[in-house]
Amino acid sequence: AVSVVLFTRDLRLRDNPPLREALAAADTVVPLFVRDDAISAAGYAVPNRRAFLADCLADLDRQLRERGSRLVVRTGDVVEQVCRVAHEAGAAEVHMSADVSAYAARREERLAAALESAGRRLRVHDRVITAVAPGEITPAGKDHMAVFTPYFRRWEKDHQRDVLGAPRRAPGVEEVRGEEIPTRAAVRGVSPGVPAGGETAGRKRFADWRRSGMDTYEEQHDDLAGDATSRLSPHLHFGTLSPVELVARAREKGGPGAGAFVRQLAWRDFHHQVLCARPRSGHAEYRTRQDRWRTEEEAPEEVAAWKRGATGFPVIDAALRQLRHEGWMHNRGRLLVGSFLTKTLYIDWRVGARHFLDLLVDGDMANNQMNWQWVAGTGTDTRPNRVLNPITQAKKYDPQGDYVRRWVPQLAQLAGRTVHEPWKLDDQRRAALDYPERIVDLAAASGRFLRARGK
Ligand code: FAD
Repeated sequence: AVSVVLFTRDLRLRDNPPLREALAAADTVVPLFVRDDAISAAGYAVPNRRAFLADCLADLDRQLRERGSRLVVRTGDVVEQVCRVAHEAGAAEVHMSADVSAYAARREERLAAALESAGRRLRVHDRVITAVAPGEITPAGKDHMAVFTPYFRRWEKDHQRDVLGAPRRAPGVEEVRGEEIPTRAAVRGVSPGVPAGGETAGRKRFADWRRSGMDTYEEQHDDLAGDATSRLSPHLHFGTLSPVELVARAREKGGPGAGAFVRQLAWRDFHHQVLCARPRSGHAEYRTRQDRWRTEEEAPEEVAAWKRGATGFPVIDAALRQLRHEGWMHNRGRLLVGSFLTKTLYIDWRVGARHFLDLLVDGDMANNQMNWQWVAGTGTDTRPNRVLNPITQAKKYDPQGDYVRRWVPQLAQLAGRTVHEPWKLDDQRRAALDYPERIVDLAAASGRFLRARGK
């Protein structure tokens, strides 16, 4: 028998249930990746993620070749391409991972119907992209959990499935042809700091960080300059690392750092189960408040200054410049720039979410849209009206000012925490800086937001 494995956001050989099951059920397996026209047409195939993805596909192909197979890459409509490959290979089954967005749900439905009409079967596997499947933890009579803490209490007690090893051999079908695997070098407009993708790079990053970073994670994860988080998010987004395996390995190690890291992986599952139950929340508000957000057309200069990292608030500008340079931003930075755009500038969270998706290597429908809604107070935050003050937050999370000096070289000569308030310098020193004035008055801005929320 022959099976096709459709790789999507699970670009790994280790701990990969669709691959493992396909190999168990068939003598030959065709590993397939489709560069999906719909994802490109919607503008989601941006340079930073395409570069990382190219590395992932090259690494997957190399590992498959070591096992007597190779990756088949096709471009086009995903359903059409899968059906074509299944037909060419004479496959009875197609295996893939369950995913959560509205688009993924539609893809699965179309694929199941198209395969069935050709006498084939789609098999969808849970607990591949997430550690716990959406819908597994629900309150009585409801379809999802809307508050994190009770979700986490139950998630923690979940009995995780066993971690699977990589297959030793993966016999493939010679006759099925694919395209040339895209290379990272061919992608234009990539941010200079985008890291290497692929399972091999991901495993190395995790092993190094587990050894030398995990223990201090709990105390240091919020320190902007310390950069002490795992930076595994792109690997989790593309599935070059398995969340089930990361949870297991962290628990084996134990300690407060490992515990805090596992909790973040639960946040990831939490947002995935919210989006899965409320797929419209990718674009529409999860909870409607009284907001009348300003659009990009209504505030073009403020939006442009925010995107450029030229708001005149050093910590905000540092974080936005980090995003442009690395295709990644520290979580504390994401919270600050998100609160600043939505609650201080009172601009629609979708403007910020889109900008993040244009640049983030880890840009992800569940994590990005649901975190933006959390920050905007239209999501699952239980304190939806809190406004983060960029100056007090900067002093707390970048106490020496090193993060700002790293990303805003125009302020590099300012010592210590004076870097957070350049407007306090005497006129002459302030004028000598090549750095913009503040684009908004913080107190007036909070007032506007709170009045709009009826507070
Ligand atoms: P670590 O602190 O090492 O955490 C380990 C892993 O846990 C992360 O890789 C991530 O997969 C998960 N995680 C951590 N925090 C969160 C969280 N708040 N929500 C969900 N999962 C989490 N994360 C994305 O992966 N993609 C996004 O597009 C994204 N957009 C965001 C937008 C905003 C406005 C905010 C506030 C947060 C966003 N996050 C997003 C969540 C978080 O900021 C990143 O996952 C984290 O900064 C990645 O760095 P790390 O891998 O070093 O994280």
